[in-house]
Amino acid sequence: MKGPYDSLMFITHRPDLVLVEGEGSWLRDRAGRRYLDFVQGWAVNCLGHSPKPVVEAIAAQAAKLINVSPAFYNEPMLRLADLITANSCFDRVFFANSGAEANEGAIKLARKWGAVHRGGAYEIITTHNGFHGRTLATMSASGKQGWDRLFEPKVPGFPKVPLNDLAAVEAAIGERTVAVMLEPIQGEAGVVPAERDYLRALRELTRRRGLLLIVDEVQTGMGRTGSLFAYQQAGIEPDIMTLGKGIGGGVPLAALCAREEVCCFEPGDQGGTYNGNPLMTAAGCAVLETLLQPGFLEEVAAKGEYLRRRLEELSDRRGQAGARGQGMLQALLLRRPVAADVVARALQAGLLLNAPRPDILRFMPALTVSRDEIDQMAATLERCLTEALAAADQAG
Ligand code: PLP
Repeated sequence: MKGPYDSLMFITHRPDLVLVEGEGSWLRDRAGRRYLDFVQGWAVNCLGHSPKPVVEAIAAQAAKLINVSPAFYNEPMLRLADLITANSCFDRVFFANSGAEANEGAIKLARKWGAVHRGGAYEIITTHNGFHGRTLATMSASGKQGWDRLFEPKVPGFPKVPLNDLAAVEAAIGERTVAVMLEPIQGEAGVVPAERDYLRALRELTRRRGLLLIVDEVQTGMGRTGSLFAYQQAGIEPDIMTLGKGIGGGVPLAALCAREEVCCFEPGDQGGTYNGNPLMTAAGCAVLETLLQPGFLEEVAAKGEYLRRRLEELSDRRGQAGARGQGMLQALLLRRPVAADVVARALQAGLLLNAPRPDILRFMPALTVSRDEIDQMAATLERCLTEALAAADQAG
């Protein structure tokens, strides 16, 4: 007999519950149980579940115009591109549907630029443990453990170096190198920051060697780290940036942003049926206009500090290895590989958490989360962590 979930293609194990409703930091399942959400669709719902500005923007736009074709301009597409370029160091934007697709665009743009300006150079230096998406090229660019043997043969041209090691980048640069690509904070790797001095030195090095610097801000962008974009905190100006996740506030939207000198696509090089779709870009406008309201990002940074302090206190009390991260992208470092058990116990207790590594918990709440909700999360987390550590002790 077919089970309730068996018409879906199996890709991963999911808990036996169906979510039906959300508001802010809270979710409700079909059985009426409530959950405090510190995953938020993997850092996607930056304004929480069903936020008023996004709901209203989508409803208004849906009533007016849902889709044209990328062969024509539409109003929200132009407004969002203007908003992004007015608030960043980039001059032009291409809209896509997912982070991976934006990164594919960045890889294509860098290769095209290499073909036009660098005698056919095409290699993009990326980082060990980096994550850029699940298409073939972005999996090839990623340095996620275990992926090196998946879906062979990979797309060639992505030599990898350790993060925060400038000498390794210098050693990897060759005649075929066209760019260096990295996340300002490696999210999937367990919230591992690129040091600010390293980013500054990398910018200087890439400029000196005539290479492009590409920042993947799919996870760190859109206010997540307390500034609109994470690269701004290092005081650098990259050549290319990709956005995803938070930019749509929950709807599929992503962006490839580039400086004028780099924009060399010709007709036919880049596209996609939904690029710049007015319904999605209207949601993006509502998100960005909210983030740009006076004081919004300062409050994100302050609440990020608050979350960090709560995690550090908890770590000290429970003998764990501390916390790291920036703004609303934080991690708790455990001394034992109990993260998955903590996540399972937290789910039973009505709290959604994420474990990117066996000994790391990641926190990606809505940027609008309250201090009270952070306190509630920390209390439940401490209970679940204590239980998980005791269970691990018992198991020996
Ligand atoms: N880049 C980074 C830094 C990410 O964290 C992710 C997703 O987690 C992606 C790219 C891929 O984005 P998407 O899943 O929207 O394709």
